[in-house]
Amino acid sequence: MSLSLESALSFPVIFTLCTCIGVGWLAHWVSGQRVFPGRVSFVLIHIACLWWMLTAALEMATIQPADKLFWGAMAWPGIVAAPTFWAVFLWQYVNSIHSLLPRAKLLMLMVMPLCCWILALTNPLHGLFYGADTAPISSEPGAPIRYHHGPLFYAAAVYVYFFMLFCIAVVIQAAMRSRGLHRRHYLAFAAVTAVPWTANISYVVFGRTIFGFDPTPFSFAFTLAAFAWLIVGVRLFDVLPVARHLLLEALLDPVLVIDPRQRVIEANPAALQLANFPANWQGRPLVEWPVVGEDLQQLLALQINDSEPQLLTLEDGDRYFELRVSAITRATRDGPLVLGHMLYLRDVTQRYLSELKLSEALAISEQRLKTITNLHELLREQALRDPLTGLYNRRYLDEFFMLAVARARRQSQPMALALIDLDHFKQLNDDHGHLIGDDVLKSVALFLVENLRASDVIFRIGGEEFLVILPEVDGADAHKRLGKLCSDFAAMPMETRKGGLPLTFSAGLAIWPQQGDTLDELILHADAALYKAKDAGRNCVYLALLP
Ligand code: GH3
Ligand code: MG
Ligand code: MG
Repeated sequence: MSLSLESALSFPVIFTLCTCIGVGWLAHWVSGQRVFPGRVSFVLIHIACLWWMLTAALEMATIQPADKLFWGAMAWPGIVAAPTFWAVFLWQYVNSIHSLLPRAKLLMLMVMPLCCWILALTNPLHGLFYGADTAPISSEPGAPIRYHHGPLFYAAAVYVYFFMLFCIAVVIQAAMRSRGLHRRHYLAFAAVTAVPWTANISYVVFGRTIFGFDPTPFSFAFTLAAFAWLIVGVRLFDVLPVARHLLLEALLDPVLVIDPRQRVIEANPAALQLANFPANWQGRPLVEWPVVGEDLQQLLALQINDSEPQLLTLEDGDRYFELRVSAITRATRDGPLVLGHMLYLRDVTQRYLSELKLSEALAISEQRLKTITNLHELLREQALRDPLTGLYNRRYLDEFFMLAVARARRQSQPMALALIDLDHFKQLNDDHGHLIGDDVLKSVALFLVENLRASDVIFRIGGEEFLVILPEVDGADAHKRLGKLCSDFAAMPMETRKGGLPLTFSAGLAIWPQQGDTLDELILHADAALYKAKDAGRNCVYLALLP
């Protein structure tokens, strides 16, 4: 191979080599930047372009036409692979496909570049790629070759154009499906994609060249740079994204952005501070994030299906955050495509602690209220009961009588009121003293409770006077019951601290509703009956006469 210093250092060669270095650096830079869909394919385009331009530089630098033709043929893997990966990249980018192209598909896509390569290298044998008229444009040493394209060349061109058309269709469709900033982003993609297309058509159809060479690889280099800028520095078209970014940076609440595989792709300074400024955080799975990762991952599982904010408590227990999750979506043909999620952690420590204190105070108040209510109940109970016998006193009688009448009326049942007065009790007091008299009163109360029905309610309404409400009994029944009670009582001495004392009582009965509707009326009649019993010699029961 003949190379002259003059041709090797010519401007076109140096320019092409500089572009190569630029593309190489771009590939390196892009691979170190933030994760974006189709990044590996994007780097593969750079490699294909680099190959294409290196062979172009060598074609320019060599002198002999045969050497030029050789490097021209060597360019083919790059020429075909560049638009192929271009199409793969755009498809992955637009559809947010982060996974790598499967190996089988990659190999399939490499078939055509390799075939073209072999066919171009074996052109001297078949002449189907470049025609016989392919020759230098002039007799000057190192003059560029004018290629006469054969049928295989056009077949390869059709294959390449298919991918170029596919690229344009993908971005235009994405632009049409999107709105606002996304749409402008894709329209810029479409515009930039059209550059190598235009360059190639102008070369193939109109024979336009740069330094006597196909301008397509140079235009690809330009397009790659533009794309890298569009993708990595997305904030180009509008101040709005910049403003949003600044806002995110300035926000005191932590914000994280995760991709569909739950890797952190963005974090604001507050989020980094919360995790103690982890190194190499970009692309790290959320679950591996220091301090908050595991808890966030767990909450996320709950939150994604539920729009309610979740409470995140940090392990040291003195900070509380409310987690809100927003899906980041993009409209696609099959509905919205989830590109990732934004996790917004709102510091609610103050609010939470206040709520905690408030609920504690509330619990204490409730407890106090309960105690007061219980005491109130107790007081009421005490107020309604006679302290000596434990029976209800006169105070409760009015209230109870109303309820008893209401029930009797509901059930259409009669009801009896009995007045019981101990006989010669004054004498008992005089004979044995008041303390013994009190013991007797307690025993009488116990006797009444034990010998009356559970539904009969007994009141102590005076010193040694008792009133009993007997529901669901008529006059005859009441008389029978009280009569038996009276004789049983007389037969049983009342227990005192000094032993049993014999005692009798007299009773008067009045029946509701025959002998009165009100308590006073009934007491009046029962009292009259009681007097009759006393007059009749005591130790007996009298039923009041019908009015
Ligand atoms: P009578 O058969 O006519 O009813 O005769 P009595 O002695 O029972 O007469 P009365 O009912 O008028 O007397 C009631 C007596 O009951 C007067 C009082 O000494 C006594 N007494 C009233 N309250 C109490 C009390 O709380 N304790 C004691 N030990 N005695 C009381
Ligand atoms: Mg009395
Ligand atoms: Mg008495």
